[in-house]
Amino acid sequence: MKSDGNYLPRILEAFPRAHLCSLPTPLEDMPRLAAATGAGRLLIKRDDCASLAMGGNKERELEFYLGEALDRHCDTILITGAVQSNFVRLAAAAAAKLGLDCHIQLEERVANVDDLYRDSGNVLLDQLLGAVIHAYPHGEDEAGADRNLGVIADSLRARGRWPYIIPLSPTHKPLGALGYIVAAMELAEQLREMQVSPDEIIVPSGSGNTHAGLLFGLRALGVTTPVIGACVRRNAAEQSRRIAVRCDQIAELLDMRSPVGTDDVCLVDDALAPGYGLLNEPTRAAMTAAARKEGLILDPVYSGKAMASFLTRVGKGGRDATLLFIHTGGTPALFAYGERVL
Ligand SMILES: *Cc1c(COP(=O)(O)O)cnc(C)c1O
Repeated sequence: MKSDGNYLPRILEAFPRAHLCSLPTPLEDMPRLAAATGAGRLLIKRDDCASLAMGGNKERELEFYLGEALDRHCDTILITGAVQSNFVRLAAAAAAKLGLDCHIQLEERVANVDDLYRDSGNVLLDQLLGAVIHAYPHGEDEAGADRNLGVIADSLRARGRWPYIIPLSPTHKPLGALGYIVAAMELAEQLREMQVSPDEIIVPSGSGNTHAGLLFGLRALGVTTPVIGACVRRNAAEQSRRIAVRCDQIAELLDMRSPVGTDDVCLVDDALAPGYGLLNEPTRAAMTAAARKEGLILDPVYSGKAMASFLTRVGKGGRDATLLFIHTGGTPALFAYGERVL
């Protein structure tokens, strides 16, 4: 059992990792957005600028999944997600880059969508990237979606392929979260160089790999800054349990004591309604403010909602507060929403 954050790089070396993105991603000041919102200082970690196929947080997660896939000599990547999933798009891109085939399963997670939602944005990119698309009729059945991946995997094996499955439900080991432990090390170094210590960090919280990995990594490094997860899929109570479990699973995977205490798991769900992938007015306002004050593009499903929560935090921290936002990407989904974002 190890507990010292200095061990982190060596612990992570035990996990095979595919090189997919150029790191570090930039950490930028957003002075005009800060002035417009009354914050002392706003910093944004630009994981939307990670280098593969239009960027996003899943690039960091995929380095570990694809690393394991290559290590096992698999030839096909199999993954499930919402129709406008960024994870699926980046898995298709990573597979293409590494010379693997990719099968993707798209779940009906958002009700009453139009042709634009079905064909544009990430779906257009999935096709361009050459992924084979399978449809799954449900959107809230993680175990069922994983079971169906198993069925597709069996049919691939019957044809002589070696599929690697990237599972969805939280019963699986949190390999993707390791990508955000790497991000935590990177961020801690950037903050040291900039000589800034933020009062609060905000990150969107969906499957929870990003939030749990970042929180775990920062605490393992001795960084005690509050990490606030902005709920984009489940309410705060449900998501808190998910993140706590995820952190324990990371500790188990790394064979170390968890540095995350119960008080460290913080969630807000003020921008979640009316639900996953559905827009609301504060999100539209946050997307507009970021675009018009900083030329910064956010997406309607994740980063826009997290920015809406972020802006409501500004007043709470006092006028001099320094806040740090993790921009997790997702911008291709913007085009699937069309004029609804305006
Ligand atoms: C998936 C995703 C998230 C949420 O990350 P999790 O690790 O699933 O919690 C946030 N932002 C974007 C753009 C995403 O695609």
